[in-house]
Amino acid sequence: MTALTIGLDIGGTNVRAAVVDVDGRVVAEQRVSSLLDWESMRAQILGLIAALRADHEIAAVGIGAAGMVDRAGVIHYAPNVAGFLGTPVRAEIAQGTGLPTVVDNDANAAAWGELAHGGARGVSDALVITLGTGIGGAIVSDGRVLRGAHGFAAEIGHFTIDLDGPRCACGEIGHWEALASGNALGRMAREATVIGAAPAVLKLAGGDPDAVRGTHVSEAARAGAPDALALIDRYAGFVALGFVGLANILDPEIIVVSGGLVEEGDLLLGPVRAYFDGHVEGFGYRPTPSIVAAGLGDRAGTIGAATMARKLLR
Ligand SMILES: [Zn+2]
Repeated sequence: MTALTIGLDIGGTNVRAAVVDVDGRVVAEQRVSSLLDWESMRAQILGLIAALRADHEIAAVGIGAAGMVDRAGVIHYAPNVAGFLGTPVRAEIAQGTGLPTVVDNDANAAAWGELAHGGARGVSDALVITLGTGIGGAIVSDGRVLRGAHGFAAEIGHFTIDLDGPRCACGEIGHWEALASGNALGRMAREATVIGAAPAVLKLAGGDPDAVRGTHVSEAARAGAPDALALIDRYAGFVALGFVGLANILDPEIIVVSGGLVEEGDLLLGPVRAYFDGHVEGFGYRPTPSIVAAGLGDRAGTIGAATMARKLLR
């Protein structure tokens, strides 16, 4: 099958679309700012697909969306996209294009991309995790992305690891996401600046503690600032804590990690591995899952959605 497919990645900020070939190469791509009500967004998505079809023969469409997507491609709820509330995205895009269409959660789509063309290629059991605003995750088990009974499996950041911890974006207390997301690193850094423990980070934020973000920490750490490196180290401990629990439960061969901090080489993944190794059950008497950077960067969502679309053609 040599046909091209379209992959769409729908987030709260942007809608990205790419025409992808059988080898995972992006042939064409477009990006527009997200509109937040479904009527406008549907027109926007159909417009993007029509524009790409004008130049390419397309066989199927895949969509990865930030939200809770069921097995029929209905988006039940999306914290960052107000228009998605019980929205039958798959049915309406299939009807509007006349093409086979599949819709899944954006983290699951990214996992299909990493599995077919990125860091998890050739692996049958993996975790694919994005450390961003929140924590996105997908579980690859026996070569497939785990969906669960309703399609909502792998809301991977939302289990409690500290009953005295900070409140999660979902409302619960001490979830892993509240301690190990990119946003959590920013919060830890703001707390450190208030007690004078992060001078280099504070300087990068223009001296305003409220303006401190995770990106300031990584920038200062890259320059070797000890206060920033100490924050990264503490944060890495929280990331590893979740990885250890998930590895004990799921026994992955590999943990593929993406997100801004992972693009800094081993700045984060080095200390994460140090906290991880030795804590997995039976360490030393079993293969240890390797922790690696994702291979597709910010195109994992579109390439993965196009990969899901290709599966419709078999
Ligand atoms: Zn939560």
